[in-house]
Amino acid sequence: MNKVFKNIPRILFGKGTLCRIDELIYSFEKKRIVFILDHRIPSVYLEQFKTKNIDIITFPASKGEPTTNQVDNLTEKIKKNNNPEVIVGMGGGSTLDVAKSVSIMLTNPGKSENYQGWDLVKNPPIHKIGIPTLPGSGSEASRTAVLFGPEKKFGINSDYSMFDGLILDSDLMKTLPKDQKFFTGMDCYIHCVESLTGTFINSLSKTYAEKALDLCTNSFLKKYNADEMIVASYLGGASIVNSEVGICHALSYGLSLEFKIRHGIANCIVFKNLGEFYDDHVEKFIKMLDISNIKLPENISKNFTKDILKRMTNMTLQMDKPLTNALGVNWKKIMTPKKIEEIYMKM
Ligand code: ZN
Repeated sequence: MNKVFKNIPRILFGKGTLCRIDELIYSFEKKRIVFILDHRIPSVYLEQFKTKNIDIITFPASKGEPTTNQVDNLTEKIKKNNNPEVIVGMGGGSTLDVAKSVSIMLTNPGKSENYQGWDLVKNPPIHKIGIPTLPGSGSEASRTAVLFGPEKKFGINSDYSMFDGLILDSDLMKTLPKDQKFFTGMDCYIHCVESLTGTFINSLSKTYAEKALDLCTNSFLKKYNADEMIVASYLGGASIVNSEVGICHALSYGLSLEFKIRHGIANCIVFKNLGEFYDDHVEKFIKMLDISNIKLPENISKNFTKDILKRMTNMTLQMDKPLTNALGVNWKKIMTPKKIEEIYMKM
């Protein structure tokens, strides 16, 4: 049965829209606002907001994907200092996920690791706005905020994780490094493939994924277009909100957990080895890899001990929803522990 289709209610789209943020936050001048900012973003973008009611906190996004500890510490700090009414997340997928998590943890008791899973958040979060600066992760559209917990990499999957408003402004994406552009762009490509080939898809989310896949493929087979990639990232994200990811994400979480490999890169390493599931899409992916002249890490399986393989396999086996989406309710018959290890050993 189709789920209720979820989307972000208010979006400001277009070059130069950052300065119109007050249109997304009622009584902007009077609100206590905290910006959580990817530390790589030049602060010049925020000069225009230098008013008393805005505090800026930077998140060290390039140092690794966010942890539940980081979110809990940040939440404590923000609670003590600012007690804000609005959180604004600005940056790549990791920073957006931190902003989403903090907005939830400001109104929910305990530790953020207790909310990793599906629909565990009880209290409505505070208002949050997302401003992506690196297109592809789809975090701006999604109902998840992915964090490393003490033992697992898992999302806070909840309607409360969704932003209340977005600014999609390609002026903020002028100076992206080539590798980052590619790996995050491929996250979008893989979201679309997993959504389109999954069993949870319906015509509405299919149309989103098809268009996003087109735009994304154009950017990496022909010429990169930041405006189109913002749209692709958003539509690809919206498509998986209303379907699910698949085998590639289920396996890539294990890699990221053990070796702290970034999500976009981990996805690419896995996806290259999933020809038997995603045939033509993998072929196209390899073409895009060539055209963009990107070299993926090779032979990483030489570092896999028995224990590591077991932990990665266990992580994958916890990804029930993505694997049900990809392979149907009897996925355990296909994606056995032996099969998972076999795929990992190809990497
Ligand atoms: Zn992803």
